[in-house]
Parts: sequence; structure tokens; C-alpha cells
Amino acid sequence: NYQQTSFLTSAPDITALPPDTGIEVAFAGRSNAGKSSALNTLTRQNGLARTSKTPGRTQLINTFRLADEKRLIDLPGYGFAKVPLAVKEKWQKSLGEYLMKRQSLKGLVVLMDIRHPLKDLDQQLIHWAVESQLSVLLLLTKADKLSPGPRKKTLLEVREASLAFMGDVTVHTFSSLSKQGLTELEQVLDDWYGR
Ligand code: GDP
Repeated sequence: NYQQTSFLTSAPDITALPPDTGIEVAFAGRSNAGKSSALNTLTRQNGLARTSKTPGRTQLINTFRLADEKRLIDLPGYGFAKVPLAVKEKWQKSLGEYLMKRQSLKGLVVLMDIRHPLKDLDQQLIHWAVESQLSVLLLLTKADKLSPGPRKKTLLEVREASLAFMGDVTVHTFSSLSKQGLTELEQVLDDWYGR
């Protein structure tokens, strides 16, 4: 029951995350991809994840508790042009480490605006996740921005392209506005959390 989600901690970096036990699922995406909105929609809590006003500025990792030993991790948005290169590089390094070393991490949800899917950094992240044997859900957000024809076409194109990652990669469309895709998102998460 994702409505029971509560805030756990805010960590400045991956070394400050809660103990590496149980099952963890992480949400990641470019700044403005609709990650906070999706987390709020999933948990039916409007204020849970702060929707970004200054994208890419705060690099905090927010962690949430779903149930005993079941966590949701809100990773900082990436791809924001104004972030200094050194900060970007540091973040990429620690993100790679997190994906590779975190034992409790079961799956990664990569949120991408349906109008701009599979940018370079998205692809890099998906590659890392697949290399780390994680399950991956590509969530094509703001699906309400496209009419049904183009929406379906993009979904099929991204599904086709996702085969190249050669891993456990699922693709769904999603809209925080219309709630389209919410059931599918919950089903994937239920599966990962073993519920
Ligand atoms: P984040 O930076 O990835 O956390 O993205 P936000 O959740 O803050 O969303 C970025 C912008 O996209 C905001 O202006 C949201 O209102 C808008 N947005 C998010 N989800 C949707 C959606 O499903 N449909 C539409 N039309 N806009 C959305």
C-alpha cells in the first residue's frame, strides 16, 4: 500500500543512506522529468517529494519508508545544464557506485519525459543498472502531453530501443495528471518488492 509511505531521511551522499538491508527501489531522471510528481501520485501524498523549483541545485537523496525493510529512494535529478562539471562528475561517480554496490537495491525506475526519451545520461544510467543486474522500469512521463496515436508510437519505439540494453527492462507510459499508467507502475513495484 503505497499510501503508507513516509519520509525517512535526507542523505547528502550515498554513504549516509539507511542500512543496506531489505529491499530498495530507486527513482531517477533528468531534472524536470516529472519524478517528484510521479512519487506524489504513487503515494497519494502531494507534499511527499518536493517538485523542483530550482532543478539540479540540491543534490540530496531523499529516502522513504514503505513498510518494514522496504524503501523508496528519490535520487537527485541529473542533466541540468547549470550544474558545474565537477559536481556532475562527482555525482555520476557516486551514482555508479550506488547502483553497483547497494545490496538491497532491487530495481531502478528511470523517468523520462515522453517527448524526450533516452537522452545520453538516461542511456548511461540504464546501462549501469543492467550491468549491476538490476530490474529497470522506463517510465515515459507526462503521457497526457501526447495524443493516443503518438503516445503509442513512442511507447513502441522505446520498447524496441530498450531491447538493446539486453537486460530486464520494462517500459510503460505514465501521467501524474491523468493517472494513466499508475496501475502498471504499482504492479512493477509490487513485483520488485515481492508483494
Ligand atoms: P522533477 O524535477 O523530475 O521532480 O519534475 P516535477 O515533478 O517537479 O515536474 C516538472 C514539471 O512537469 C512541473 O511543472 C510539473 O507540473 C510537470 N509535470 C509533471 N508530471 C506531469 C504530468 O504527468 N503531466 C503534465 N502535463 N505535466 C507534468
